[in-house]
Amino acid sequence: MAKKLNTCSFCGEAKPFMLRGLDGSLICDDCIRAAFEVMKNDPVVNNYKEQSSLGAVPKPAEIKAYLDQYVIGQDEAKKSLSVAVYNHYKRINQKVEDDVEIEKSNIILVGRTGTGKTLLARTIAKMLKVPFAQVDATVLTQAGYVGEDVESLLSRLLQACNYDVKQAERGVVFIDEIDKIARKGDNPSITRDVSGEGVQQALLKLLEGSVVNVPPQGGRKHPEQSFIQVNTHHILFICGGAFDGIERIIGQRLNTQMVGFEAQRSSKTYDKDNMLKYIAPQDLKSFGLIPEIVGRLPIVTYLNPLDRVALRNILTEPKNALIKQYTKLLAMDGVKLTFAPEALDYIVDQALTYKLGARGLRALCEVVMTDIMYEMPTHPTTQFEVTLEYCKAQIAKADMLKLSATA
Ligand code: ADP
Repeated sequence: MAKKLNTCSFCGEAKPFMLRGLDGSLICDDCIRAAFEVMKNDPVVNNYKEQSSLGAVPKPAEIKAYLDQYVIGQDEAKKSLSVAVYNHYKRINQKVEDDVEIEKSNIILVGRTGTGKTLLARTIAKMLKVPFAQVDATVLTQAGYVGEDVESLLSRLLQACNYDVKQAERGVVFIDEIDKIARKGDNPSITRDVSGEGVQQALLKLLEGSVVNVPPQGGRKHPEQSFIQVNTHHILFICGGAFDGIERIIGQRLNTQMVGFEAQRSSKTYDKDNMLKYIAPQDLKSFGLIPEIVGRLPIVTYLNPLDRVALRNILTEPKNALIKQYTKLLAMDGVKLTFAPEALDYIVDQALTYKLGARGLRALCEVVMTDIMYEMPTHPTTQFEVTLEYCKAQIAKADMLKLSATA
């Protein structure tokens, strides 16, 4: 006798296999599969799962080891960041049993553009599996002027986790170009400092931890809008900036410290090519960050300029290194792609000559690879080696001025 078919309460189809719920509703195998797919890819559901594992925060050495897989060099910054993040999550998990309250350890990364500040912050967020938002401080202006309110930082964070407030409240916010909101001068009558001190004051509230009304779509707040309340107490803020010219300020401070008796006694010489390594909070104040902001960014660390060796490693070493990505792309077309070591050296040389930095490496690789990636799918071969000659010829065809603009 044929088995009686039941009707699925979800899709309405009659099927032989069904699961029955407590209320008698039925779900067929296809709907179970569809539901599984939805749940599997849903960031909110997944983040909740990960969230429970946040109790076991990785140790600083583990955090650094993870960063090492994606970021070349920058050991000092990685160490400071690892410790700060570790302490940050310890602070979140702290039980208030005594009067000792661990304070927030927001971080400021100082280093030239393209040295890996954003990459570090993004990688940390990836490791901790918490929402991450990156915002340029330059878009922020004081209320009443064209631009965005500082609260829009949190709108981006909310967007990154589908407006799950609980998730956002443990997230990481990277504020880039913090140096661009430095105070412009001591005399407020010269310029109206709408994107400087005013923004810093507004930012202060967020950094120190408070409950903030956030406009869901970001931008400028207006009275008719409905807000989402976000508590920034447990949000880790990482700020980054190039602080052009701060080396001079550091140099002046070090010189004054050395005047007189100390100067004669001190045999210490400074690494003039990398003065950033001596950066201290007071230099940030001299640059134009207000003391309260500097106080809320207790961890100050620096990134080294990228030299030839670092650039060369960036091409091939990180887990998702550019060369690995191109190799994978072509492998999908059945092509075994290889690069002659001299070709890679040449790409690095060009990046250095034209001062394109790490960002330029990608632009240069695109120039080298575009023709191959265009041709291979229609004229397949089983392997291709990017030789020095090929590399030179492709780069010679490129407009280096245009490349410098993209880097
Ligand atoms: P910054 O925020 O300091 O201006 P980014 O982190 O945005 O610089 O770096 C730009 C790109 O250059 C990154 O996406 C990455 O591909 C590469 N890059 C820069 N520095 C490093 C580094 N130290 N290790 C690996 N890649 C790097």
